[in-house]
Amino acid sequence: MIIDFHTHTFPDRIASQALDKLKSASHTRPFSDGTVTGLQASMQKAVIDMSLVMPVATNFRQVEHVNDASILVNREAGHTGIYSFGCMHPDFERPKEEIARLKNAGVKGVKLHPVYQGVDFDDARYLRILEICQKLELIVLIHAGDDIGFPGVIHASARMILNAMRSVGPLRLVLAHMGGWRRWEEAASLLPGMGLYIDTSISMGCLTPGGDGYPWQEDELALMDDARALAVIRAFGADHTLFGSDSPWGGQAETLKALDRLELTEEEKKRILCSNALDLLGLRQEECPVRERN
Ligand SMILES: [Zn+2]
Repeated sequence: MIIDFHTHTFPDRIASQALDKLKSASHTRPFSDGTVTGLQASMQKAVIDMSLVMPVATNFRQVEHVNDASILVNREAGHTGIYSFGCMHPDFERPKEEIARLKNAGVKGVKLHPVYQGVDFDDARYLRILEICQKLELIVLIHAGDDIGFPGVIHASARMILNAMRSVGPLRLVLAHMGGWRRWEEAASLLPGMGLYIDTSISMGCLTPGGDGYPWQEDELALMDDARALAVIRAFGADHTLFGSDSPWGGQAETLKALDRLELTEEEKKRILCSNALDLLGLRQEECPVRERN
């Protein structure tokens, strides 16, 4: 069984608009059309059983609406194999009530994006959200490190993550993009040993240019080579690494292939592809909503 811990989908009527916007900010090519159907096709091709969707609220007014949609996505999870986290925004006024609503609806965690949300991760508004999730035993997945669409904007540095963890205490926190996008060594030196998880999304190999004429330099396209990626996984531990593609921004099949190249044992690969995710979600394999195979 394979679980992709980090994907995105958009409602059909706004998917192409959302993809265009993010495409023009990142100058990279998406690997699906951003819809639920597109993700299902990608899962079928890559033989992935379950994908977790990580919705982002870019302003506080979207929070309840996006969470309503996440709860609806989860109703279909039994045959789509697509299961959504909820979202939260640091400026949302009643985080306690809204996060409790997610918990009661069976949602397993919350996605936060300090760069898109424009707030430092160790800001009191995030700490409040983290404390609520900690009490309710919810998972938190954050975008960590730099963001391709916001060059030079720093809101999720390893130092900020360390400050937040010191303030809040033990938390089921997943750091996307191998601990900190394009700040991998910094993350790997400051953050291991606190029980934090990393996901493998958009960190190995190289970026795929969007074909929009943006003058990419070869060294700008390069992400981590195999030795660097392996060193980061070893720093956080194969037992704290989750397979994630960030589909549609990363390819599911392509990320699987990149992971497969690394010199990990078969047992470690199994953990990264499935059992770490099951443990974190508190699910047994037979309880998982998986894709219907045809
Ligand atoms: Zn993402």
